Amino acid sequence: MTQALWPAFAPAVDPFRGEPIVFVEGLGSWLIDREGRRYLDGVGALEAMVLGHGNERLVEVARQQMSKLAFIDVFRFTTEPALELAETLANVCPLDDAKVHFTPGGSESVETAMKVAMQFHRMHGQPDRRFFVSRHGSYHGVTFGAMTLGDSYFSMRNEWYGQVGPGIPAARGAQDPEAFGSASRHSSDASRIRERIVELGPNNVAGVIVDPMGTASGVTIPPDSDLQAIRELCDEFGILLIVDEVITGFGHTGVLFASAHSGVQPDIIAISKGLSSGYMPIGATLVSGAIADAFVGRENYLAHGQTYGGHPVACAVASENIRILQEERLPDRATELGRYLFDGLDALRHKYDSLAFVRGKGLLLGLEIMKSASQGVDFENPAEAGVQFRLTLRDQGLISICVHPGSVLLLAPPLVATRDDLDQLVAMMDAGLERFESKGFA
Ligand code: PLP
Repeated sequence: MTQALWPAFAPAVDPFRGEPIVFVEGLGSWLIDREGRRYLDGVGALEAMVLGHGNERLVEVARQQMSKLAFIDVFRFTTEPALELAETLANVCPLDDAKVHFTPGGSESVETAMKVAMQFHRMHGQPDRRFFVSRHGSYHGVTFGAMTLGDSYFSMRNEWYGQVGPGIPAARGAQDPEAFGSASRHSSDASRIRERIVELGPNNVAGVIVDPMGTASGVTIPPDSDLQAIRELCDEFGILLIVDEVITGFGHTGVLFASAHSGVQPDIIAISKGLSSGYMPIGATLVSGAIADAFVGRENYLAHGQTYGGHPVACAVASENIRILQEERLPDRATELGRYLFDGLDALRHKYDSLAFVRGKGLLLGLEIMKSASQGVDFENPAEAGVQFRLTLRDQGLISICVHPGSVLLLAPPLVATRDDLDQLVAMMDAGLERFESKGFA
Protein backbone atom coordinates (compact mmCIF):
# COMPACT_ATOMS: atom_id res chain seq x y z
CA MET A 1 0.00 0.00 0.00
CA THR A 2 2.80 2.48 0.81
CA GLN A 3 5.26 1.40 -1.85
CA ALA A 4 4.60 4.08 -4.47
CA LEU A 5 4.40 7.15 -2.24
CA TRP A 6 7.58 9.24 -1.89
CA PRO A 7 6.75 11.93 0.63
CA ALA A 8 8.52 15.19 1.56
CA PHE A 9 12.03 15.18 3.05
CA ALA A 10 12.11 11.37 3.20
CA PRO A 11 13.89 8.44 1.63
CA ALA A 12 12.10 6.75 -1.29
CA VAL A 13 12.12 3.39 0.45
CA ASP A 14 10.50 2.96 3.89
CA PRO A 15 9.97 6.72 4.29
CA PHE A 16 7.78 6.33 7.39
CA ARG A 17 10.10 3.93 9.26
CA GLY A 18 7.49 1.17 9.14
CA GLU A 19 3.79 1.78 8.61
CA PRO A 20 2.71 5.41 8.22
CA ILE A 21 -0.10 6.97 10.18
CA VAL A 22 -2.84 7.39 7.61
CA PHE A 23 -5.30 10.05 8.66
CA VAL A 24 -8.85 9.70 7.46
CA GLU A 25 -10.79 12.38 9.35
CA GLY A 26 -10.37 15.66 11.19
CA LEU A 27 -12.57 17.71 13.47
CA GLY A 28 -11.51 20.91 15.25
CA SER A 29 -8.12 20.19 16.83
CA TRP A 30 -8.40 16.44 16.44
CA LEU A 31 -7.38 13.90 13.80
CA ILE A 32 -8.44 10.27 13.44
CA ASP A 33 -6.32 7.64 11.70
CA ARG A 34 -7.67 4.66 9.82
CA GLU A 35 -7.32 2.44 12.86
CA GLY A 36 -9.69 4.82 14.67
CA ARG A 37 -7.03 6.31 16.98
CA ARG A 38 -7.47 9.98 17.90
CA TYR A 39 -4.56 12.46 17.83
CA LEU A 40 -4.42 16.04 19.00
CA ASP A 41 -3.12 18.17 16.12
CA GLY A 42 -0.65 20.25 18.11
CA VAL A 43 0.85 21.83 15.00
CA GLY A 44 -2.35 22.62 13.08
CA ALA A 45 -1.46 20.49 10.06
CA LEU A 46 1.95 22.06 9.43
CA GLU A 47 0.92 25.45 10.89
CA ALA A 48 -1.81 26.00 8.29
CA MET A 49 -4.97 25.02 10.10
CA VAL A 50 -6.03 28.24 11.80
CA LEU A 51 -9.75 27.40 11.62
CA GLY A 52 -9.29 23.76 12.55
CA HIS A 53 -10.44 20.66 10.74
CA GLY A 54 -13.93 20.09 9.37
CA ASN A 55 -15.09 23.69 8.95
CA GLU A 56 -18.37 23.36 7.05
CA ARG A 57 -18.46 26.97 5.85
CA LEU A 58 -15.20 26.49 3.98
CA VAL A 59 -16.42 23.18 2.57
CA GLU A 60 -19.63 24.80 1.31
CA VAL A 61 -17.84 27.76 -0.30
CA ALA A 62 -15.50 25.36 -2.12
CA ARG A 63 -18.42 23.23 -3.29
CA GLN A 64 -20.33 26.24 -4.61
CA GLN A 65 -17.33 27.72 -6.41
CA MET A 66 -16.33 24.39 -7.89
CA SER A 67 -19.76 23.76 -9.33
CA LYS A 68 -20.03 27.34 -10.65
CA LEU A 69 -16.55 27.78 -12.15
CA ALA A 70 -13.84 25.32 -11.09
CA PHE A 71 -10.93 26.76 -13.06
CA ILE A 72 -9.93 29.04 -15.93
CA ASP A 73 -6.79 30.37 -17.62
CA VAL A 74 -5.51 32.75 -14.94
CA PHE A 75 -2.79 34.17 -17.20
CA ARG A 76 -5.09 36.16 -19.47
CA PHE A 77 -8.35 36.23 -17.50
CA THR A 78 -9.43 36.47 -13.90
CA THR A 79 -12.35 35.54 -11.66
CA GLU A 80 -14.52 37.18 -9.04
CA PRO A 81 -12.95 35.20 -6.15
CA ALA A 82 -9.44 36.33 -7.20
CA LEU A 83 -10.51 39.98 -7.45
CA GLU A 84 -12.26 39.84 -4.08
CA LEU A 85 -9.37 38.15 -2.28
CA ALA A 86 -6.78 40.54 -3.75
CA GLU A 87 -8.87 43.47 -2.54
CA THR A 88 -9.28 41.97 0.94
CA LEU A 89 -5.57 41.23 1.28
CA ALA A 90 -4.61 44.71 0.12
CA ASN A 91 -6.94 46.12 2.79
CA VAL A 92 -5.83 43.97 5.73
CA CYS A 93 -2.08 43.78 5.11
CA PRO A 94 0.33 46.37 6.56
CA LEU A 95 1.58 47.55 3.13
CA ASP A 96 0.44 50.76 1.49
CA ASP A 97 -1.39 50.31 -1.85
CA ALA A 98 -0.41 46.66 -2.01
CA LYS A 99 -0.50 44.63 -5.22
CA VAL A 100 -1.22 40.94 -4.79
CA HIS A 101 0.39 38.22 -6.91
CA PHE A 102 -1.13 34.78 -6.23
CA THR A 103 0.93 31.60 -6.08
CA PRO A 104 0.19 27.95 -5.30
CA GLY A 105 2.16 27.95 -2.02
CA GLY A 106 4.81 29.32 0.32
CA SER A 107 7.99 28.53 -1.62
CA GLU A 108 6.59 30.17 -4.72
CA SER A 109 5.55 33.23 -2.72
CA VAL A 110 9.12 33.64 -1.46
CA GLU A 111 10.55 32.92 -4.91
CA THR A 112 8.28 35.56 -6.44
CA ALA A 113 9.38 38.07 -3.80
CA MET A 114 13.02 37.44 -4.70
CA LYS A 115 12.39 37.96 -8.41
CA VAL A 116 10.41 41.14 -7.77
CA ALA A 117 13.23 42.53 -5.60
CA MET A 118 15.98 41.70 -8.13
CA GLN A 119 14.01 43.16 -11.01
CA PHE A 120 13.16 46.27 -9.00
CA HIS A 121 16.85 47.00 -8.45
CA ARG A 122 17.71 46.21 -12.08
CA MET A 123 15.07 48.66 -13.25
CA HIS A 124 16.73 51.24 -11.02
CA GLY A 125 20.15 50.71 -12.58
CA GLN A 126 21.46 48.33 -9.92
CA PRO A 127 21.69 44.90 -11.57
CA ASP A 128 24.42 43.82 -9.14
CA ARG A 129 21.95 43.63 -6.31
CA ARG A 130 21.48 39.85 -6.52
CA PHE A 131 21.94 38.57 -2.96
CA PHE A 132 19.45 38.06 -0.16
CA VAL A 133 20.40 37.83 3.50
CA SER A 134 18.34 35.56 5.77
CA ARG A 135 18.60 34.48 9.39
CA HIS A 136 20.66 31.50 10.49
CA GLY A 137 18.50 28.39 10.95
CA SER A 138 15.68 29.64 8.78
CA TYR A 139 13.55 27.77 6.25
CA HIS A 140 11.86 29.63 3.42
CA GLY A 141 10.98 26.84 0.99
CA VAL A 142 12.41 24.49 -1.59
CA THR A 143 12.41 26.24 -4.96
CA PHE A 144 15.82 27.12 -6.39
CA GLY A 145 15.96 30.63 -4.96
CA ALA A 146 14.10 30.08 -1.69
CA MET A 147 16.19 27.01 -0.83
CA THR A 148 19.40 29.04 -0.78
CA LEU A 149 17.96 31.18 2.02
CA GLY A 150 17.52 28.07 4.12
CA ASP A 151 20.01 27.24 6.81
CA SER A 152 18.13 24.84 9.01
CA TYR A 153 19.51 21.79 10.79
CA PHE A 154 18.22 19.58 8.00
CA SER A 155 20.53 20.57 5.19
CA MET A 156 19.00 21.95 2.01
CA ARG A 157 22.01 20.43 0.21
CA ASN A 158 22.46 23.58 -1.83
CA GLU A 159 26.03 22.54 -2.61
CA TRP A 160 24.74 19.36 -4.29
CA TYR A 161 22.79 21.42 -6.78
CA GLY A 162 25.63 23.83 -7.45
CA GLN A 163 23.68 26.62 -5.86
CA VAL A 164 25.73 29.47 -4.45
CA GLY A 165 23.41 32.25 -3.45
CA PRO A 166 21.30 34.18 -4.07
CA GLY A 167 20.44 33.46 -0.43
CA ILE A 168 23.26 34.01 2.06
CA PRO A 169 22.20 33.30 5.66
CA ALA A 170 23.71 35.47 8.40
CA ALA A 171 25.88 34.03 11.16
CA ARG A 172 24.13 32.86 14.28
CA GLY A 173 23.89 34.68 17.58
CA ALA A 174 22.54 37.94 18.85
CA GLN A 175 24.48 40.99 19.96
CA ASP A 176 22.22 41.32 22.98
CA PRO A 177 21.25 37.72 23.89
CA GLU A 178 19.38 38.96 26.94
CA ALA A 179 17.00 41.02 24.83
CA PHE A 180 16.72 38.52 21.99
CA GLY A 181 15.72 35.75 24.38
CA SER A 182 16.49 32.09 24.88
CA ALA A 183 16.74 31.29 21.16
CA SER A 184 19.50 33.79 20.47
CA ARG A 185 22.08 31.03 19.94
CA HIS A 186 19.99 29.42 17.17
CA SER A 187 19.19 32.44 15.03
CA SER A 188 20.53 35.82 13.92
CA ASP A 189 19.54 39.28 14.99
CA ALA A 190 19.77 42.60 13.15
CA SER A 191 23.46 43.00 14.03
CA ARG A 192 24.37 39.66 12.40
CA ILE A 193 22.36 40.58 9.33
CA ARG A 194 24.22 43.89 9.14
CA GLU A 195 27.55 42.06 9.33
CA ARG A 196 26.59 39.82 6.41
CA ILE A 197 25.39 42.77 4.31
CA VAL A 198 28.67 44.60 4.89
CA GLU A 199 30.63 41.46 4.02
CA LEU A 200 28.74 41.01 0.73
CA GLY A 201 28.95 44.71 -0.07
CA PRO A 202 25.67 46.57 0.50
CA ASN A 203 25.35 47.41 -3.20
CA ASN A 204 25.23 43.70 -4.03
CA VAL A 205 22.30 42.98 -1.73
CA ALA A 206 18.75 43.02 -3.12
CA GLY A 207 16.83 42.05 -0.02
CA VAL A 208 16.74 40.85 3.55
CA ILE A 209 14.27 38.01 4.08
CA VAL A 210 13.18 37.18 7.63
CA ASP A 211 10.28 35.71 9.55
CA PRO A 212 9.02 38.52 11.79
CA MET A 213 9.56 36.08 14.63
CA GLY A 214 11.50 32.94 13.96
CA THR A 215 9.53 29.82 13.17
CA ALA A 216 11.74 27.14 11.65
CA SER A 217 14.75 28.96 13.14
CA GLY A 218 14.03 27.64 16.64
CA VAL A 219 10.79 29.54 17.33
CA THR A 220 12.76 32.63 18.23
CA ILE A 221 10.70 35.44 19.63
CA PRO A 222 12.87 38.51 19.03
CA PRO A 223 11.96 41.80 20.66
CA ASP A 224 9.96 44.20 18.45
CA SER A 225 13.09 46.34 18.21
CA ASP A 226 14.79 43.63 16.12
CA LEU A 227 12.55 43.96 13.07
CA GLN A 228 12.66 47.75 13.54
CA ALA A 229 16.47 47.63 13.42
CA ILE A 230 16.35 45.42 10.31
CA ARG A 231 13.99 47.93 8.65
CA GLU A 232 16.42 50.74 9.50
CA LEU A 233 19.42 48.95 8.09
CA CYS A 234 17.52 48.08 4.89
CA ASP A 235 16.67 51.77 4.51
CA GLU A 236 20.28 52.77 5.20
CA PHE A 237 21.57 50.52 2.41
CA GLY A 238 18.71 50.76 -0.11
CA ILE A 239 17.81 47.10 0.43
CA LEU A 240 14.24 45.76 0.27
CA LEU A 241 12.76 44.17 3.39
CA ILE A 242 10.87 40.96 2.60
CA VAL A 243 8.97 39.46 5.49
CA ASP A 244 8.05 35.79 5.29
CA GLU A 245 4.67 35.43 7.02
CA VAL A 246 3.99 31.96 5.60
CA ILE A 247 3.67 30.60 9.16
CA THR A 248 3.11 33.75 11.19
CA GLY A 249 0.34 35.18 8.99
CA PHE A 250 -3.37 34.84 9.76
CA GLY A 251 -3.67 34.84 13.47
CA HIS A 252 -1.46 32.44 15.40
CA THR A 253 0.56 35.27 16.97
CA GLY A 254 -2.55 37.26 17.94
CA VAL A 255 -2.71 39.52 14.86
CA LEU A 256 -3.27 38.87 11.15
CA PHE A 257 0.31 39.82 10.22
CA ALA A 258 3.02 39.33 12.84
CA SER A 259 5.13 42.19 11.46
CA ALA A 260 2.41 44.47 12.89
CA HIS A 261 3.66 43.69 16.43
CA SER A 262 6.72 45.83 15.74
CA GLY A 263 4.86 48.43 13.69
CA VAL A 264 7.24 47.78 10.80
CA GLN A 265 6.13 48.15 7.18
CA PRO A 266 7.97 45.64 5.01
CA ASP A 267 8.33 46.19 1.25
CA ILE A 268 7.12 42.71 0.33
CA ILE A 269 5.30 40.01 2.30
CA ALA A 270 5.08 36.29 1.45
CA ILE A 271 2.02 34.40 2.69
CA SER A 272 0.41 30.96 2.38
CA LYS A 273 -0.69 28.26 4.90
CA GLY A 274 -3.19 30.09 7.16
CA LEU A 275 -4.45 32.11 4.19
CA SER A 276 -6.86 29.28 3.40
CA SER A 277 -6.42 27.35 6.66
CA GLY A 278 -4.87 24.72 4.40
CA TYR A 279 -8.24 23.82 2.86
CA MET A 280 -6.89 24.70 -0.59
CA PRO A 281 -3.28 25.20 -1.73
CA ILE A 282 -2.71 28.93 -2.17
CA GLY A 283 -0.09 31.57 -1.44
CA ALA A 284 0.51 35.17 -2.36
CA THR A 285 3.26 37.74 -2.64
CA LEU A 286 2.10 41.14 -1.43
CA VAL A 287 4.12 44.01 -2.87
CA SER A 288 3.88 47.58 -1.62
CA GLY A 289 2.58 50.07 -4.18
CA ALA A 290 5.84 52.02 -4.12
CA ILE A 291 7.68 48.93 -5.40
CA ALA A 292 4.96 47.54 -7.68
CA ASP A 293 4.43 50.85 -9.47
CA ALA A 294 7.85 50.50 -11.12
CA PHE A 295 6.68 47.40 -13.00
CA VAL A 296 4.93 49.24 -15.81
CA GLY A 297 4.92 48.86 -19.58
CA ARG A 298 6.11 46.08 -21.88
CA GLU A 299 9.74 46.51 -20.88
CA ASN A 300 9.16 46.22 -17.18
CA TYR A 301 6.35 43.74 -16.62
CA LEU A 302 6.94 40.84 -14.23
CA ALA A 303 7.72 37.82 -16.42
CA HIS A 304 6.45 35.35 -13.87
CA GLY A 305 3.26 33.44 -13.05
CA GLN A 306 1.88 29.98 -12.42
CA THR A 307 -1.08 28.04 -13.79
CA TYR A 308 -2.51 27.54 -10.32
CA GLY A 309 -1.71 31.01 -8.98
CA GLY A 310 -5.08 32.47 -8.00
CA HIS A 311 -7.11 29.30 -8.45
CA PRO A 312 -10.76 30.42 -8.12
CA VAL A 313 -11.75 27.71 -5.62
CA ALA A 314 -8.70 28.44 -3.46
CA CYS A 315 -9.42 32.20 -3.59
CA ALA A 316 -13.07 31.71 -2.61
CA VAL A 317 -12.06 29.51 0.32
CA ALA A 318 -9.36 31.98 1.44
CA SER A 319 -11.81 34.92 1.44
CA GLU A 320 -14.30 32.95 3.53
CA ASN A 321 -11.44 31.88 5.84
CA ILE A 322 -10.48 35.53 6.48
CA ARG A 323 -14.16 36.46 7.02
CA ILE A 324 -14.52 33.76 9.68
CA LEU A 325 -11.20 34.70 11.32
CA GLN A 326 -12.41 38.28 11.65
CA GLU A 327 -16.04 37.53 12.61
CA GLU A 328 -14.95 35.17 15.37
CA ARG A 329 -12.01 37.37 16.43
CA LEU A 330 -9.75 34.33 16.35
CA PRO A 331 -6.45 36.25 16.57
CA ASP A 332 -7.63 37.63 19.96
CA ARG A 333 -8.49 34.11 20.95
CA ALA A 334 -4.94 33.06 20.03
CA THR A 335 -3.54 35.67 22.42
CA GLU A 336 -5.79 34.58 25.25
CA LEU A 337 -5.38 30.83 24.73
CA GLY A 338 -1.67 31.26 24.02
CA ARG A 339 -1.13 32.63 27.53
CA TYR A 340 -3.07 29.72 28.98
CA LEU A 341 -1.10 27.14 27.03
CA PHE A 342 2.21 28.87 27.75
CA ASP A 343 1.55 28.80 31.50
CA GLY A 344 0.58 25.13 31.39
CA LEU A 345 3.71 24.14 29.48
CA ASP A 346 6.09 26.44 31.33
CA ALA A 347 5.01 24.90 34.65
CA LEU A 348 6.43 21.58 33.41
CA ARG A 349 9.94 23.07 33.41
CA HIS A 350 10.01 22.73 37.19
CA LYS A 351 9.26 19.04 36.89
CA TYR A 352 11.55 18.01 34.03
CA ASP A 353 15.22 18.95 33.71
CA SER A 354 15.09 18.17 29.96
CA LEU A 355 12.58 20.94 29.28
CA ALA A 356 14.88 23.94 28.99
CA PHE A 357 12.74 26.74 27.55
CA VAL A 358 9.18 27.49 26.53
CA ARG A 359 8.77 30.55 24.31
CA GLY A 360 6.05 31.84 22.09
CA LYS A 361 3.63 34.49 20.99
CA GLY A 362 -0.07 33.63 21.01
CA LEU A 363 -0.63 30.08 19.86
CA LEU A 364 2.75 29.80 18.14
CA LEU A 365 5.02 28.19 20.70
CA GLY A 366 8.39 26.49 20.89
CA LEU A 367 9.73 24.07 23.50
CA GLU A 368 13.46 23.51 23.68
CA ILE A 369 14.83 20.33 25.22
CA MET A 370 18.34 19.78 26.58
CA LYS A 371 20.10 16.90 28.26
CA SER A 372 20.18 18.98 31.43
CA ALA A 373 18.62 22.43 31.49
CA SER A 374 19.87 23.15 35.02
CA GLN A 375 23.46 22.45 33.97
CA GLY A 376 23.12 23.97 30.49
CA VAL A 377 24.15 20.74 28.73
CA ASP A 378 22.91 19.97 25.22
CA PHE A 379 22.26 16.50 23.86
CA GLU A 380 25.15 15.02 21.94
CA ASN A 381 22.87 14.79 18.94
CA PRO A 382 20.11 17.39 19.44
CA ALA A 383 18.35 16.53 16.16
CA GLU A 384 18.04 12.83 17.03
CA ALA A 385 16.89 13.73 20.56
CA GLY A 386 14.21 15.91 18.97
CA VAL A 387 13.01 13.07 16.75
CA GLN A 388 12.85 10.68 19.70
CA PHE A 389 10.92 13.24 21.75
CA ARG A 390 8.51 13.91 18.88
CA LEU A 391 7.89 10.17 18.44
CA THR A 392 7.35 9.77 22.18
CA LEU A 393 4.74 12.53 22.06
CA ARG A 394 3.14 10.95 19.02
CA ASP A 395 2.75 7.74 21.01
CA GLN A 396 0.91 9.83 23.62
CA GLY A 397 -1.43 11.03 20.86
CA LEU A 398 0.12 14.47 20.24
CA ILE A 399 1.24 15.59 16.78
CA SER A 400 4.15 18.07 16.78
CA ILE A 401 7.16 19.00 14.65
CA CYS A 402 10.88 19.59 15.31
CA VAL A 403 12.55 22.77 14.10
CA HIS A 404 16.10 24.16 14.17
CA PRO A 405 18.42 22.99 15.66
CA GLY A 406 16.29 19.87 15.86
CA SER A 407 15.73 19.95 19.62
CA VAL A 408 13.02 22.63 19.49
CA LEU A 409 9.45 21.50 19.14
CA LEU A 410 7.03 23.84 17.41
CA LEU A 411 3.39 23.95 18.48
CA ALA A 412 0.69 25.81 16.56
CA PRO A 413 -2.69 24.34 17.47
CA PRO A 414 -5.77 25.55 15.57
CA LEU A 415 -7.16 28.84 16.90
CA VAL A 416 -10.50 27.11 17.54
CA ALA A 417 -8.87 24.83 20.14
CA THR A 418 -10.80 24.65 23.40
CA ARG A 419 -9.28 24.99 26.87
CA ASP A 420 -10.01 21.32 27.31
CA ASP A 421 -7.97 20.54 24.15
CA LEU A 422 -5.08 22.57 25.56
CA ASP A 423 -5.35 20.85 28.96
CA GLN A 424 -5.05 17.55 27.13
CA LEU A 425 -2.07 18.87 25.19
CA VAL A 426 -0.29 19.79 28.44
CA ALA A 427 -1.17 16.39 29.94
CA MET A 428 0.27 14.62 26.88
CA MET A 429 3.42 16.76 27.10
CA ASP A 430 3.73 15.91 30.80
CA ALA A 431 3.41 12.18 30.11
CA GLY A 432 5.70 12.47 27.05
CA LEU A 433 8.46 14.21 29.02
CA GLU A 434 8.26 11.61 31.78
CA ARG A 435 8.53 8.80 29.25
CA PHE A 436 11.33 10.56 27.32
CA GLU A 437 13.40 11.13 30.48
CA SER A 438 12.86 7.58 31.67
CA LYS A 439 14.40 6.30 28.42
CA GLY A 440 17.57 8.24 29.36
CA PHE A 441 18.40 9.68 25.97
CA ALA A 442 21.96 11.03 25.97
N1 PLP B 1 8.36 29.97 4.41
C1 PLP B 1 8.19 29.48 5.65
C2 PLP B 1 8.45 30.35 6.85
C3 PLP B 1 7.77 28.16 5.82
O1 PLP B 1 7.62 27.65 7.04
C4 PLP B 1 7.51 27.37 4.67
C5 PLP B 1 7.06 25.97 4.80
O2 PLP B 1 6.97 25.40 5.86
C6 PLP B 1 7.72 27.92 3.41
C7 PLP B 1 8.13 29.23 3.31
C8 PLP B 1 7.48 27.10 2.17
O3 PLP B 1 6.11 26.88 2.00
P1 PLP B 1 5.60 25.65 1.10
O4 PLP B 1 5.91 24.40 1.82
O5 PLP B 1 4.11 25.92 0.98
O6 PLP B 1 6.27 25.74 -0.22
